[in-house]
Amino acid sequence: MSDFETVIGLEVHTQLNTKSKIFCSCSTSFENRPNVNICPVCCGYPGTLPVFNKKVLDLAVRVCLALSCKINKTIYFERKNYFYPDLPKNYQISQYKMPLGEGGFLELSSKKIRINRIHMEEDAGKLVHKDDYSLVDFNRTGTPLLEIVSEPEINSPQEAFDYLNALKLILQYINVSDCDMEKGSLRCDANISLRKKGNTQLGTKVELKNMNTFKGARTALEFEIKRQTNVLNRGERIIQETRLWDTDKAKTTAMRTKEQAQDYRYFPEPDLLDFSVTKEVIEKEKNFIGELPLEKKKRFLKIYKISIKEVDIFINSPFLADFFEEVLKHYPKDQEVSNWFLGPFLEQVNTLGGKFDQIKISAHNFAKIIKYFCEGKINNLAAKKILSLSITTDDDIDAIIEKEKLIQISDRGELEAFIEEVVGLNPKPVQEYLEGKDKAIMFLVGQVMKKTKGKANPKITREMIERRVKK
Ligand SMILES: [Zn+2]
Repeated sequence: MSDFETVIGLEVHTQLNTKSKIFCSCSTSFENRPNVNICPVCCGYPGTLPVFNKKVLDLAVRVCLALSCKINKTIYFERKNYFYPDLPKNYQISQYKMPLGEGGFLELSSKKIRINRIHMEEDAGKLVHKDDYSLVDFNRTGTPLLEIVSEPEINSPQEAFDYLNALKLILQYINVSDCDMEKGSLRCDANISLRKKGNTQLGTKVELKNMNTFKGARTALEFEIKRQTNVLNRGERIIQETRLWDTDKAKTTAMRTKEQAQDYRYFPEPDLLDFSVTKEVIEKEKNFIGELPLEKKKRFLKIYKISIKEVDIFINSPFLADFFEEVLKHYPKDQEVSNWFLGPFLEQVNTLGGKFDQIKISAHNFAKIIKYFCEGKINNLAAKKILSLSITTDDDIDAIIEKEKLIQISDRGELEAFIEEVVGLNPKPVQEYLEGKDKAIMFLVGQVMKKTKGKANPKITREMIERRVKK
Protein backbone atom coordinates (compact mmCIF):
# COMPACT_ATOMS: atom_id res chain seq x y z
CA MET A 1 0.00 0.00 0.00
CA SER A 2 1.24 3.43 -0.90
CA ASP A 3 1.84 5.99 1.86
CA PHE A 4 0.65 8.73 -0.45
CA GLU A 5 -2.70 10.20 -1.25
CA THR A 6 -3.46 11.48 -4.76
CA VAL A 7 -4.91 14.95 -5.27
CA ILE A 8 -6.18 15.85 -8.75
CA GLY A 9 -7.75 19.01 -10.11
CA LEU A 10 -9.13 19.19 -13.63
CA GLU A 11 -9.40 22.03 -16.11
CA VAL A 12 -11.82 21.37 -18.92
CA HIS A 13 -12.04 23.57 -21.98
CA THR A 14 -15.23 23.28 -23.93
CA GLN A 15 -16.06 25.02 -27.17
CA LEU A 16 -19.46 26.70 -27.01
CA ASN A 17 -21.63 25.96 -30.02
CA THR A 18 -22.17 29.48 -31.32
CA LYS A 19 -22.26 30.16 -35.06
CA SER A 20 -19.74 33.01 -34.85
CA LYS A 21 -16.56 33.67 -32.90
CA ILE A 22 -16.40 35.37 -29.49
CA PHE A 23 -15.14 38.82 -30.57
CA CYS A 24 -15.88 39.00 -34.33
CA SER A 25 -18.49 37.68 -36.75
CA CYS A 26 -16.30 35.00 -38.40
CA SER A 27 -17.79 31.53 -38.64
CA THR A 28 -16.76 28.89 -36.10
CA SER A 29 -17.10 26.07 -38.64
CA PHE A 30 -14.11 23.73 -38.92
CA GLU A 31 -15.16 22.25 -42.22
CA ASN A 32 -13.57 24.93 -44.35
CA ARG A 33 -10.10 25.24 -45.88
CA PRO A 34 -7.44 26.73 -43.58
CA ASN A 35 -7.50 30.51 -43.04
CA VAL A 36 -10.85 31.32 -44.62
CA ASN A 37 -12.86 32.04 -41.45
CA ILE A 38 -10.68 34.97 -40.46
CA CYS A 39 -10.89 38.75 -40.37
CA PRO A 40 -8.74 41.69 -39.19
CA VAL A 41 -10.12 41.30 -35.62
CA CYS A 42 -9.25 37.63 -35.06
CA CYS A 43 -5.97 38.13 -36.94
CA GLY A 44 -4.97 40.88 -34.53
CA TYR A 45 -4.58 43.74 -37.02
CA PRO A 46 -3.72 47.04 -35.36
CA GLY A 47 -6.62 49.42 -34.95
CA THR A 48 -9.33 46.76 -34.86
CA LEU A 49 -11.68 46.42 -31.92
CA PRO A 50 -13.33 43.30 -30.49
CA VAL A 51 -17.13 43.13 -30.06
CA PHE A 52 -18.39 40.61 -27.53
CA ASN A 53 -20.80 37.94 -28.89
CA LYS A 54 -23.78 37.94 -26.54
CA LYS A 55 -24.66 34.34 -27.38
CA VAL A 56 -21.41 33.29 -25.67
CA LEU A 57 -22.60 34.87 -22.45
CA ASP A 58 -26.00 33.14 -22.69
CA LEU A 59 -24.45 29.68 -23.07
CA ALA A 60 -21.79 30.35 -20.44
CA VAL A 61 -24.46 31.48 -17.94
CA ARG A 62 -26.38 28.28 -18.67
CA VAL A 63 -23.33 26.16 -17.80
CA CYS A 64 -22.76 28.14 -14.57
CA LEU A 65 -26.38 27.56 -13.54
CA ALA A 66 -26.28 23.84 -14.38
CA LEU A 67 -23.19 23.49 -12.18
CA SER A 68 -24.74 25.55 -9.34
CA CYS A 69 -22.18 28.36 -9.60
CA LYS A 70 -22.68 31.83 -8.25
CA ILE A 71 -22.65 34.29 -11.17
CA ASN A 72 -20.59 37.40 -10.59
CA LYS A 73 -22.34 40.71 -11.01
CA THR A 74 -19.73 42.65 -12.93
CA ILE A 75 -18.04 40.98 -15.84
CA TYR A 76 -14.89 42.15 -17.54
CA PHE A 77 -12.19 40.55 -19.64
CA GLU A 78 -8.42 40.57 -19.14
CA ARG A 79 -5.44 40.10 -21.39
CA LYS A 80 -3.22 37.11 -20.80
CA ASN A 81 0.11 38.03 -22.35
CA TYR A 82 2.23 35.31 -23.87
CA PHE A 83 3.88 34.43 -27.16
CA TYR A 84 1.18 32.59 -29.05
CA PRO A 85 2.26 31.66 -32.60
CA ASP A 86 -1.38 30.81 -33.35
CA LEU A 87 -2.97 33.86 -31.72
CA PRO A 88 -1.55 36.85 -33.60
CA LYS A 89 -2.42 39.51 -30.99
CA ASN A 90 0.10 37.79 -28.70
CA TYR A 91 -2.35 37.96 -25.86
CA GLN A 92 -5.43 35.94 -25.18
CA ILE A 93 -8.61 37.70 -24.07
CA SER A 94 -9.67 35.73 -21.02
CA GLN A 95 -11.10 36.29 -17.56
CA TYR A 96 -8.82 36.17 -14.57
CA LYS A 97 -9.64 38.01 -11.36
CA MET A 98 -13.36 37.93 -11.87
CA PRO A 99 -14.55 34.77 -13.62
CA LEU A 100 -18.15 34.51 -14.78
CA GLY A 101 -19.04 31.82 -12.27
CA GLU A 102 -17.59 30.59 -8.98
CA GLY A 103 -18.24 28.11 -6.22
CA GLY A 104 -20.36 25.43 -7.90
CA PHE A 105 -20.25 21.67 -7.79
CA LEU A 106 -20.68 18.57 -9.87
CA GLU A 107 -22.36 15.63 -8.24
CA LEU A 108 -21.04 12.14 -8.99
CA SER A 109 -22.94 9.11 -7.70
CA SER A 110 -20.57 8.77 -4.76
CA LYS A 111 -19.34 12.30 -4.09
CA LYS A 112 -19.64 15.98 -4.87
CA ILE A 113 -16.67 17.67 -6.57
CA ARG A 114 -16.64 21.41 -6.07
CA ILE A 115 -16.14 23.70 -9.07
CA ASN A 116 -13.69 26.51 -8.35
CA ARG A 117 -14.46 28.74 -11.34
CA ILE A 118 -15.88 28.97 -14.85
CA HIS A 119 -14.61 31.60 -17.23
CA MET A 120 -14.95 32.65 -20.88
CA GLU A 121 -12.01 33.09 -23.24
CA GLU A 122 -10.96 32.89 -26.86
CA ASP A 123 -9.26 29.87 -28.39
CA ALA A 124 -5.98 29.97 -30.28
CA GLY A 125 -5.52 28.63 -33.82
CA LYS A 126 -3.97 25.40 -34.97
CA LEU A 127 -0.33 24.69 -35.74
CA VAL A 128 0.57 21.87 -38.09
CA HIS A 129 4.21 20.87 -37.75
CA LYS A 130 5.96 19.52 -40.86
CA ASP A 131 9.56 18.30 -41.22
CA ASP A 132 11.42 21.57 -40.89
CA TYR A 133 8.62 24.12 -40.95
CA SER A 134 5.19 24.72 -39.43
CA LEU A 135 1.86 25.82 -40.87
CA VAL A 136 -0.68 27.91 -39.04
CA ASP A 137 -4.46 27.87 -39.48
CA PHE A 138 -6.30 30.79 -37.84
CA ASN A 139 -9.82 29.41 -38.46
CA ARG A 140 -10.07 28.36 -34.82
CA THR A 141 -8.54 31.60 -33.50
CA GLY A 142 -11.22 33.44 -31.51
CA THR A 143 -13.57 30.49 -31.11
CA PRO A 144 -15.45 30.85 -27.80
CA LEU A 145 -14.23 28.62 -25.01
CA LEU A 146 -15.41 28.02 -21.51
CA GLU A 147 -12.86 26.86 -18.98
CA ILE A 148 -14.31 24.87 -16.10
CA VAL A 149 -11.89 24.40 -13.22
CA SER A 150 -12.53 21.91 -10.43
CA GLU A 151 -11.20 22.17 -6.90
CA PRO A 152 -8.27 19.79 -6.28
CA GLU A 153 -10.41 17.19 -4.58
CA ILE A 154 -10.47 14.32 -7.01
CA ASN A 155 -8.64 11.39 -5.44
CA SER A 156 -8.06 8.82 -8.16
CA PRO A 157 -7.69 8.50 -11.94
CA GLN A 158 -11.04 6.65 -12.02
CA GLU A 159 -12.74 9.50 -10.17
CA ALA A 160 -11.24 11.94 -12.69
CA PHE A 161 -12.62 9.76 -15.50
CA ASP A 162 -16.09 9.74 -13.88
CA TYR A 163 -15.97 13.51 -13.38
CA LEU A 164 -15.08 14.09 -17.04
CA ASN A 165 -17.86 11.84 -18.28
CA ALA A 166 -20.42 13.40 -15.95
CA LEU A 167 -19.39 16.92 -16.99
CA LYS A 168 -19.52 16.08 -20.68
CA LEU A 169 -23.00 14.62 -20.28
CA ILE A 170 -24.28 17.75 -18.52
CA LEU A 171 -22.88 19.95 -21.30
CA GLN A 172 -24.64 17.76 -23.85
CA TYR A 173 -27.92 17.75 -21.89
CA ILE A 174 -28.03 21.54 -21.74
CA ASN A 175 -27.04 21.78 -25.39
CA VAL A 176 -24.09 24.18 -25.16
CA SER A 177 -21.40 22.15 -26.90
CA ASP A 178 -21.12 19.14 -29.17
CA CYS A 179 -18.33 17.92 -26.84
CA ASP A 180 -16.60 16.23 -29.76
CA MET A 181 -13.09 15.48 -28.51
CA GLU A 182 -11.88 14.57 -32.00
CA LYS A 183 -12.74 18.06 -33.24
CA GLY A 184 -11.16 19.57 -30.14
CA SER A 185 -14.41 20.94 -28.77
CA LEU A 186 -13.67 19.32 -25.41
CA ARG A 187 -10.17 19.20 -23.96
CA CYS A 188 -8.84 18.56 -20.52
CA ASP A 189 -5.70 19.31 -18.53
CA ALA A 190 -4.99 17.98 -15.07
CA ASN A 191 -3.05 19.07 -12.02
CA ILE A 192 -1.81 16.19 -9.94
CA SER A 193 0.14 16.03 -6.72
CA LEU A 194 0.81 13.47 -4.03
CA ARG A 195 0.97 14.02 -0.31
CA LYS A 196 1.68 11.81 2.70
CA LYS A 197 -1.54 10.37 4.03
CA GLY A 198 -2.86 12.55 6.82
CA ASN A 199 -1.14 15.72 5.56
CA THR A 200 -3.46 18.61 4.90
CA GLN A 201 -1.03 20.65 2.82
CA LEU A 202 -0.95 19.96 -0.90
CA GLY A 203 2.19 18.50 -2.45
CA THR A 204 3.98 20.06 -5.44
CA LYS A 205 1.69 19.84 -8.42
CA VAL A 206 2.48 18.81 -11.95
CA GLU A 207 0.32 19.91 -14.83
CA LEU A 208 -0.54 17.27 -17.43
CA LYS A 209 -1.43 18.24 -20.98
CA ASN A 210 -2.15 16.60 -24.31
CA MET A 211 -4.60 13.99 -23.08
CA ASN A 212 -6.87 13.56 -26.07
CA THR A 213 -9.44 11.21 -24.63
CA PHE A 214 -10.91 10.58 -21.18
CA LYS A 215 -9.36 7.13 -21.16
CA GLY A 216 -6.05 8.75 -22.10
CA ALA A 217 -6.45 11.11 -19.13
CA ARG A 218 -7.05 8.19 -16.79
CA THR A 219 -3.99 6.30 -18.07
CA ALA A 220 -1.81 9.44 -17.93
CA LEU A 221 -2.85 10.07 -14.31
CA GLU A 222 -2.13 6.44 -13.41
CA PHE A 223 1.34 6.78 -14.94
CA GLU A 224 1.99 10.05 -13.14
CA ILE A 225 1.04 8.60 -9.74
CA LYS A 226 3.62 5.83 -10.23
CA ARG A 227 6.27 8.28 -11.42
CA GLN A 228 5.75 10.71 -8.54
CA THR A 229 5.58 7.89 -5.97
CA ASN A 230 8.97 6.64 -7.19
CA VAL A 231 10.49 10.12 -7.02
CA LEU A 232 9.21 10.66 -3.48
CA ASN A 233 10.26 7.19 -2.32
CA ARG A 234 13.80 7.94 -3.50
CA GLY A 235 13.69 10.97 -1.19
CA GLU A 236 13.76 13.40 -4.09
CA ARG A 237 11.52 16.37 -4.72
CA ILE A 238 8.82 16.79 -7.35
CA ILE A 239 9.54 19.62 -9.78
CA GLN A 240 6.64 21.93 -10.52
CA GLU A 241 6.32 21.64 -14.28
CA THR A 242 4.08 20.93 -17.23
CA ARG A 243 4.33 17.42 -18.64
CA LEU A 244 2.98 16.13 -21.92
CA TRP A 245 1.23 12.78 -22.19
CA ASP A 246 2.62 10.68 -25.05
CA THR A 247 -0.06 8.18 -26.04
CA ASP A 248 2.27 6.02 -28.13
CA LYS A 249 5.00 5.71 -25.54
CA ALA A 250 2.42 5.62 -22.71
CA LYS A 251 4.40 8.02 -20.55
CA THR A 252 4.61 11.69 -19.61
CA THR A 253 7.61 13.83 -20.50
CA ALA A 254 8.66 17.22 -19.14
CA MET A 255 7.63 20.09 -21.43
CA ARG A 256 8.50 23.23 -19.49
CA THR A 257 8.62 24.48 -15.94
CA LYS A 258 5.25 25.90 -15.15
CA GLU A 259 4.66 29.63 -15.46
CA GLN A 260 3.13 31.38 -12.50
CA ALA A 261 0.03 33.51 -13.04
CA GLN A 262 2.08 36.70 -12.59
CA ASP A 263 4.23 35.72 -15.58
CA TYR A 264 1.27 36.37 -17.86
CA ARG A 265 1.00 40.03 -16.80
CA TYR A 266 -2.80 39.93 -16.74
CA PHE A 267 -4.46 43.32 -17.01
CA PRO A 268 -8.02 44.42 -17.82
CA GLU A 269 -8.82 44.42 -21.54
CA PRO A 270 -9.14 48.13 -22.39
CA ASP A 271 -11.05 47.53 -25.64
CA LEU A 272 -14.08 45.93 -23.99
CA LEU A 273 -16.41 47.56 -21.47
CA ASP A 274 -17.44 46.06 -18.13
CA PHE A 275 -21.00 44.81 -18.09
CA SER A 276 -23.38 43.08 -15.74
CA VAL A 277 -25.29 39.85 -16.22
CA THR A 278 -28.94 40.81 -16.06
CA LYS A 279 -31.68 38.92 -14.21
CA GLU A 280 -33.43 38.45 -17.56
CA VAL A 281 -30.48 36.53 -19.01
CA ILE A 282 -30.31 34.33 -15.92
CA GLU A 283 -34.05 33.63 -15.92
CA LYS A 284 -34.04 32.91 -19.66
CA GLU A 285 -31.12 30.48 -19.39
CA LYS A 286 -32.65 28.70 -16.38
CA ASN A 287 -35.51 27.68 -18.67
CA PHE A 288 -33.08 25.90 -21.01
CA ILE A 289 -31.89 23.61 -18.23
CA GLY A 290 -34.19 20.65 -18.08
CA GLU A 291 -33.68 17.53 -16.05
CA LEU A 292 -29.96 16.90 -15.57
CA PRO A 293 -28.39 13.42 -15.98
CA LEU A 294 -28.18 12.47 -12.31
CA GLU A 295 -31.78 13.51 -11.59
CA LYS A 296 -32.91 11.59 -14.65
CA LYS A 297 -31.01 8.52 -13.52
CA LYS A 298 -32.63 8.61 -10.09
CA ARG A 299 -36.09 9.00 -11.65
CA PHE A 300 -35.51 6.17 -14.17
CA LEU A 301 -34.36 3.83 -11.40
CA LYS A 302 -37.44 4.70 -9.38
CA ILE A 303 -40.13 4.32 -12.02
CA TYR A 304 -38.89 1.80 -14.58
CA LYS A 305 -38.40 -1.87 -13.91
CA ILE A 306 -35.12 -2.24 -15.76
CA SER A 307 -31.57 -2.88 -14.51
CA ILE A 308 -29.16 -0.12 -13.47
CA LYS A 309 -26.92 -1.14 -16.37
CA GLU A 310 -29.75 -0.51 -18.82
CA VAL A 311 -30.62 2.80 -17.11
CA ASP A 312 -27.01 3.94 -17.52
CA ILE A 313 -27.06 3.28 -21.25
CA PHE A 314 -30.21 5.40 -21.64
CA ILE A 315 -28.95 8.22 -19.40
CA ASN A 316 -25.68 8.43 -21.31
CA SER A 317 -27.56 9.44 -24.43
CA PRO A 318 -30.13 12.24 -24.11
CA PHE A 319 -31.63 11.07 -27.41
CA LEU A 320 -32.07 7.46 -26.26
CA ALA A 321 -33.48 8.45 -22.87
CA ASP A 322 -36.12 10.74 -24.39
CA PHE A 323 -37.05 8.33 -27.15
CA PHE A 324 -37.36 5.44 -24.68
CA GLU A 325 -39.86 7.43 -22.63
CA GLU A 326 -41.80 8.44 -25.73
CA VAL A 327 -42.13 4.82 -26.88
CA LEU A 328 -43.27 3.78 -23.40
CA LYS A 329 -46.16 6.25 -23.65
CA HIS A 330 -47.47 4.15 -26.55
CA TYR A 331 -46.57 0.72 -25.17
CA PRO A 332 -45.91 0.77 -21.43
CA LYS A 333 -43.89 -2.45 -21.04
CA ASP A 334 -40.55 -1.31 -19.60
CA GLN A 335 -38.48 -4.44 -20.07
CA GLU A 336 -39.73 -5.33 -23.55
CA VAL A 337 -39.21 -1.79 -24.82
CA SER A 338 -35.77 -1.61 -23.21
CA ASN A 339 -34.77 -4.92 -24.84
CA TRP A 340 -35.78 -3.62 -28.26
CA PHE A 341 -33.90 -0.39 -27.75
CA LEU A 342 -30.66 -1.90 -26.48
CA GLY A 343 -30.77 -4.80 -28.95
CA PRO A 344 -32.20 -4.33 -32.47
CA PHE A 345 -32.54 -0.54 -32.33
CA LEU A 346 -28.89 0.10 -31.39
CA GLU A 347 -27.79 -2.53 -33.94
CA GLN A 348 -29.58 -0.51 -36.63
CA VAL A 349 -28.07 2.74 -35.33
CA ASN A 350 -24.63 1.13 -35.61
CA THR A 351 -25.21 0.19 -39.22
CA LEU A 352 -26.08 3.87 -39.80
CA GLY A 353 -22.66 4.84 -38.47
CA GLY A 354 -23.75 5.39 -34.86
CA LYS A 355 -25.46 8.70 -35.61
CA PHE A 356 -28.90 9.44 -34.24
CA ASP A 357 -29.62 12.28 -36.64
CA GLN A 358 -30.77 9.87 -39.34
CA ILE A 359 -33.41 8.25 -37.15
CA LYS A 360 -36.89 9.17 -38.41
CA ILE A 361 -39.10 6.46 -36.95
CA SER A 362 -41.78 7.87 -34.64
CA ALA A 363 -42.31 6.60 -31.11
CA HIS A 364 -45.77 5.49 -32.17
CA ASN A 365 -44.45 3.30 -34.99
CA PHE A 366 -41.58 1.84 -32.98
CA ALA A 367 -44.02 0.99 -30.18
CA LYS A 368 -46.27 -0.72 -32.75
CA ILE A 369 -43.44 -3.01 -33.93
CA ILE A 370 -42.67 -4.03 -30.34
CA LYS A 371 -46.36 -4.54 -29.57
CA TYR A 372 -46.95 -6.70 -32.67
CA PHE A 373 -43.92 -8.78 -31.76
CA CYS A 374 -44.96 -9.23 -28.12
CA GLU A 375 -48.48 -10.16 -29.19
CA GLY A 376 -47.15 -12.76 -31.65
CA LYS A 377 -48.49 -11.07 -34.77
CA ILE A 378 -44.98 -10.94 -36.23
CA ASN A 379 -41.88 -12.88 -35.23
CA ASN A 380 -38.50 -11.58 -34.18
CA LEU A 381 -37.05 -11.78 -37.69
CA ALA A 382 -39.96 -9.91 -39.22
CA ALA A 383 -39.94 -7.28 -36.48
CA LYS A 384 -36.25 -6.60 -37.06
CA LYS A 385 -36.85 -6.36 -40.79
CA ILE A 386 -39.71 -3.89 -40.31
CA LEU A 387 -37.52 -1.82 -38.01
CA SER A 388 -34.72 -1.74 -40.57
CA LEU A 389 -37.19 -0.66 -43.28
CA SER A 390 -38.82 2.10 -41.23
CA ILE A 391 -36.04 3.46 -39.03
CA THR A 392 -34.94 6.20 -41.43
CA THR A 393 -38.31 6.68 -43.16
CA ASP A 394 -41.07 6.29 -40.56
CA ASP A 395 -43.12 4.43 -43.17
CA ASP A 396 -46.43 2.95 -42.05
CA ILE A 397 -45.82 -0.31 -40.17
CA ASP A 398 -49.03 -2.04 -41.26
CA ALA A 399 -48.32 -1.19 -44.88
CA ILE A 400 -44.82 -2.73 -44.61
CA ILE A 401 -46.24 -5.90 -43.06
CA GLU A 402 -48.83 -6.11 -45.84
CA LYS A 403 -46.33 -5.41 -48.62
CA GLU A 404 -43.62 -7.75 -47.34
CA LYS A 405 -46.14 -10.39 -46.23
CA LEU A 406 -44.61 -10.56 -42.79
CA ILE A 407 -47.53 -11.71 -40.67
CA GLN A 408 -46.36 -14.60 -38.57
CA ILE A 409 -47.82 -18.07 -39.17
CA SER A 410 -49.20 -19.20 -35.83
CA ASP A 411 -51.94 -21.37 -37.22
CA ARG A 412 -51.15 -24.97 -36.31
CA GLY A 413 -53.01 -26.36 -39.27
CA GLU A 414 -50.97 -24.24 -41.64
CA LEU A 415 -47.69 -25.14 -39.93
CA GLU A 416 -48.35 -28.86 -39.83
CA ALA A 417 -47.55 -29.50 -43.50
CA PHE A 418 -44.19 -27.73 -43.20
CA ILE A 419 -43.31 -29.67 -40.07
CA GLU A 420 -44.21 -33.00 -41.63
CA GLU A 421 -41.99 -32.20 -44.58
CA VAL A 422 -39.02 -31.08 -42.49
CA VAL A 423 -39.23 -34.05 -40.10
CA GLY A 424 -39.47 -36.43 -43.06
CA LEU A 425 -36.45 -34.94 -44.81
CA ASN A 426 -34.19 -34.84 -41.72
CA PRO A 427 -34.11 -38.21 -39.98
CA LYS A 428 -30.61 -37.65 -38.57
CA PRO A 429 -31.33 -34.45 -36.58
CA VAL A 430 -34.61 -36.03 -35.42
CA GLN A 431 -32.65 -38.99 -34.09
CA GLU A 432 -30.08 -36.71 -32.46
CA TYR A 433 -32.79 -34.74 -30.74
CA LEU A 434 -34.33 -37.93 -29.39
CA GLU A 435 -30.88 -38.84 -28.04
CA GLY A 436 -30.88 -35.62 -26.04
CA LYS A 437 -29.06 -33.18 -28.34
CA ASP A 438 -30.95 -29.97 -27.81
CA LYS A 439 -29.18 -28.21 -30.68
CA ALA A 440 -30.79 -30.55 -33.18
CA ILE A 441 -34.24 -29.13 -32.56
CA MET A 442 -33.01 -25.65 -33.33
CA PHE A 443 -31.83 -26.96 -36.67
CA LEU A 444 -35.28 -28.34 -37.38
CA VAL A 445 -36.99 -25.08 -36.35
CA GLY A 446 -34.56 -23.29 -38.65
CA GLN A 447 -35.58 -25.54 -41.54
CA VAL A 448 -39.27 -24.72 -41.00
CA MET A 449 -38.31 -21.02 -40.88
CA LYS A 450 -36.55 -21.40 -44.20
CA LYS A 451 -39.55 -23.08 -45.82
CA THR A 452 -41.92 -20.41 -44.52
CA LYS A 453 -39.55 -17.58 -45.52
CA GLY A 454 -39.02 -16.69 -41.88
CA LYS A 455 -42.69 -16.38 -41.06
CA ALA A 456 -43.32 -19.39 -38.83
CA ASN A 457 -44.00 -18.67 -35.18
CA PRO A 458 -40.81 -20.16 -33.69
CA LYS A 459 -42.35 -20.99 -30.31
CA ILE A 460 -45.30 -22.89 -31.73
CA THR A 461 -43.07 -24.51 -34.36
CA ARG A 462 -40.69 -25.86 -31.74
CA GLU A 463 -43.54 -27.12 -29.61
CA MET A 464 -45.14 -28.89 -32.58
CA ILE A 465 -41.84 -30.48 -33.73
CA GLU A 466 -41.18 -31.77 -30.21
CA ARG A 467 -44.61 -33.30 -30.01
CA ARG A 468 -44.33 -34.74 -33.54
CA VAL A 469 -40.94 -36.50 -33.11
CA LYS A 470 -41.73 -37.89 -29.68
CA LYS A 471 -44.75 -39.70 -31.11
ZN1 LIG B 1 -12.67 37.18 -37.26
